[in-house]
Amino acid sequence: MKFVGAHVSTAGGVFNAPLNAKEIGAKAFALFTKNQRQWKARPLTEETINKFKENLKRVGIKPEHVLPHDSYLINLGSPEPEKRRKSLEAFIDEIERCYRLGLKYLNFHPGSHLKKVSEEECLKIVANSLNEAISRTKDVVLVIENTAGQGSNVGYRFEHIAQIIELVEDKSRIGVCLDTCHLFAAGYDIRTREAYERTMEEFDQIVGFKYLKGMHLNDAKSQLGSRVDRHHSIGKGNIGLDAFRFIMNDPRLDNIPLILETIDPSIWKEEIELLYSLVE
Ligand SMILES: [Zn+2]
Ligand SMILES: [Zn+2]
Repeated sequence: MKFVGAHVSTAGGVFNAPLNAKEIGAKAFALFTKNQRQWKARPLTEETINKFKENLKRVGIKPEHVLPHDSYLINLGSPEPEKRRKSLEAFIDEIERCYRLGLKYLNFHPGSHLKKVSEEECLKIVANSLNEAISRTKDVVLVIENTAGQGSNVGYRFEHIAQIIELVEDKSRIGVCLDTCHLFAAGYDIRTREAYERTMEEFDQIVGFKYLKGMHLNDAKSQLGSRVDRHHSIGKGNIGLDAFRFIMNDPRLDNIPLILETIDPSIWKEEIELLYSLVE
């Protein structure tokens, strides 16, 4: 069974996210547990946490179908020690927020080398950050997202993700999220049955499906291999609808959150219906 949803708003409080998901017919959702453009956030109150858990139960969405996303400011691979430290402390705070909300995952972008160190060195810094974050927190699985490789971002090759996982000591705390737009922009084609199978096979060989904890379903305004991260609505971009048909009928993608981050939230409900209509 497929669990499709979207990255919903938390305006008014995180406890509104499950209700916003329900509104669009989602069976899964993503959210920010704090303002994603600020470093600091007030701790979640008991009342907020209880309301969130109640609403989650009320809409019938399980914690494993919620994929919280970390702040855009965090760079766990920063070559600058002070920035890396600040990022790590903010990341740990986000893990604790997820834990207190009763959630299982925290989705993050690996990091950027800022042209100051090699990609290889940056991946090591990311892994060191993860090891420290894991040793200072409990339970929450840290879900690495593949990137488009825009700017100096690492994580656009499956080999990058594999290398991070290799260096993480407690592998039970590590997962992966595949973003279709990022895949495409990074040069992984999924537009035809053949290309889709080749890309997924490569992912399995290099990283392994056992680590896959979620996906971001986005079409792309950018071109194959362009390393440009521009999302588009499902079926309207350069990836096209077929890829999403392959996804919706791929049993390897059952029971994980499949999250829309497409550009027009006003049609998310229709996009979710469209995706479910592709199931054969
Ligand atoms: Zn994404
Ligand atoms: Zn993106």
